[in-house]
Amino acid sequence: MKLIYTNENRLLVSNIKNILENAGLVIILKNEFSGAGVGDLSAFDTWMEAWLVNDEDYQKAMNVINTSLNNTNYIDWVCDKCSESNTSAFELCWNCQHENNNALAS
Ligand SMILES: [Zn+2]
Repeated sequence: MKLIYTNENRLLVSNIKNILENAGLVIILKNEFSGAGVGDLSAFDTWMEAWLVNDEDYQKAMNVINTSLNNTNYIDWVCDKCSESNTSAFELCWNCQHENNNALAS
């Protein structure tokens, strides 16, 4: 079993899981129900994780993820502060870490 994707944003991890399952891959989520109130775990330990059950599917899974993240369904956004373009996979501007204020606009 391989860790295929993890992110602070649980919606993104759920989304990746759905995409991979639609591609016929078997995915298990970890840390699905942790998060707030976990006390002695660091924030990173509580990130939701998508694990690929069959190691031999790893390359296929990575291709699916990369294709999805480059897909036009993921609308790019332009930073208010520095005018850099970001893919929607980024919640913060890659250049200046400014928050994406347009996240819910479309
Ligand atoms: Zn910026």
